[in-house]
Amino acid sequence: MYDFSRCKLCAANGASPKYKLKKMSIYACPECDFHYIDHLDEMPSSHPGHTAQPLDQKGWDYIERHLPGNGQQLGKNLALVKRHLPLDGANCLDIGSGAGLFPHLLAEAGACVQGIEPQGAFREFAQKKFGIELSGETIDASHWQSGFNGFFDAVTLWDVLEHVNFPAETLKNAYNVIKHGGWLFLDTPRRDALYYRLCEFSYRLRAGKSSLFEAIYSPMPFRHKQIFTLRQLVQLAESIGFSVIQVHTRPLQPQNKMVLVCRKP
Ligand SMILES: [Zn+2]
Repeated sequence: MYDFSRCKLCAANGASPKYKLKKMSIYACPECDFHYIDHLDEMPSSHPGHTAQPLDQKGWDYIERHLPGNGQQLGKNLALVKRHLPLDGANCLDIGSGAGLFPHLLAEAGACVQGIEPQGAFREFAQKKFGIELSGETIDASHWQSGFNGFFDAVTLWDVLEHVNFPAETLKNAYNVIKHGGWLFLDTPRRDALYYRLCEFSYRLRAGKSSLFEAIYSPMPFRHKQIFTLRQLVQLAESIGFSVIQVHTRPLQPQNKMVLVCRKP
């Protein structure tokens, strides 16, 4: 069991619940002001005997219905990647592939693609819909850390850092598998943005009864566990060794996402 008074970002002790909600607390670190909830996912791969929920028709229809919406954004993400490196023959790893649409787009652009997705139902969908075999081994597994050290030309993390148990470790482990001169592309919601501030304001206004935070954070499996400020994210990337090449913000989108383009020197 993780001790949530230890900051998930800077490892300082003394973090405490800042916002108490019905099903979770949002902890804040007194040193670095990182915000995260008191919940971690159990990874499916840590229970080999556990039978994953199979993909039924309802699940298939749900994923398929959401593909066009996701596809629009992922198309823009692909254009961003293409502006920085030629994809033809490039070794790419997409972490948190979901239904496999982004690996599919990368493959269509000529890249040699691998992808990671911890949820079995999504992996099954990606296999049947796009013919793409995603790995259930997360980036911290020795399969990647030993087998693909310094290997990839580009690693992408679209909407991943807010979902994983330990985002600093995820980013460090992503760094390890990128070759020198290789690229990292990521996006994640932003805490120092108007939308988040409105949620905080509403929480205070309604004496803690606001459920707006439930739209940002959730204790449900694979949902949002932490939200970075732009400064925290840039500092984390630089402390790992990345050069931050570009920062974009998307102020007109839900949750005011930020996009980082980084390079491993
Ligand atoms: Zn901290």
